[in-house]
Amino acid sequence: MRGWGLIAAVAAMLTTGATPPPAPARAPQIALTFDDLPAHGPLPVGGDRLVIAQRIIAALAAQHAPATGFVNGGFGAGDAQAGKVIAAWRRAGLPIGNHTFGHVNLDQVGAPAFLADADRNEAGIKAAAGTGDWHWFRYPFLAEGQAAATRDAVRSGLKARGYRIAAVTMSFGDYAWNDAFARCTAKQDAGAVQALEASYLAAARAQAQRSRDLAKAALGHDIPYVLLLHLGAFDARMAPRLLALYRSMGFGFTTLAAAEADPFYAAAVDPAKPGPTATLEAAARAAGKPVPADAPLPPATLCT
Ligand SMILES: [Zn+2]
Repeated sequence: MRGWGLIAAVAAMLTTGATPPPAPARAPQIALTFDDLPAHGPLPVGGDRLVIAQRIIAALAAQHAPATGFVNGGFGAGDAQAGKVIAAWRRAGLPIGNHTFGHVNLDQVGAPAFLADADRNEAGIKAAAGTGDWHWFRYPFLAEGQAAATRDAVRSGLKARGYRIAAVTMSFGDYAWNDAFARCTAKQDAGAVQALEASYLAAARAQAQRSRDLAKAALGHDIPYVLLLHLGAFDARMAPRLLALYRSMGFGFTTLAAAEADPFYAAAVDPAKPGPTATLEAAARAAGKPVPADAPLPPATLCT
């Protein structure tokens, strides 16, 4: 398509004498995904689930960045503000997908119970999505089944239900900062929070570069990356700075569907193909390339 578009543009230029079109964008792309809507992680003292969502939505809008939210219908029960999160997300024009109702681990519950929990989540998502496409699935804990039979049973169940799988090809363990932030806020430790801000951005930067390095080692080129984030309090605090960081590193932002149109994601968009979902780590190993260690998470003992 791109080739034909270019030919058409050049033909138009020749006939109209217009200036040549700009060179195709080479910026690597990130598709942002936020898991655990409407309520991820502990709520810090004085926190508000709707304000968390609104801050993330505002940061996305400021950067014209699309994002997909993955919903657990069983989260946020009894929290009136959490009850407004999905509607706010949808009002902003952001799509949602299925992350199971109760955030169940496939390797613990098995395929039938796992698919039943995914089904239980559908009514709420369908109602919130309206005419929007909600047939995207993100495995809780990224657990796709250790046993081949389990993995295949769920993949064929997802296929039958019309889902595409949301892969993860960029991640820095953002959830761990949400936990630490809640603890440090409770201790009113401003210095520790400041250190968390710095380490969050450092980890995001290191892991973005790591994904690019893995892609280049395994494939010889960038792919559109799918970034895993969570709808948590610290993510909300950091969202403007996080998105600005990615921009400063030369990344653009794209939709999940556009990113996964890349052939790297063929088994994610078609669960009839053999799993598991492709990862850059597996691709690097298959190519005989080293897989670097992940950037460190905040210490679990911080602010305890
Ligand atoms: Zn999750």
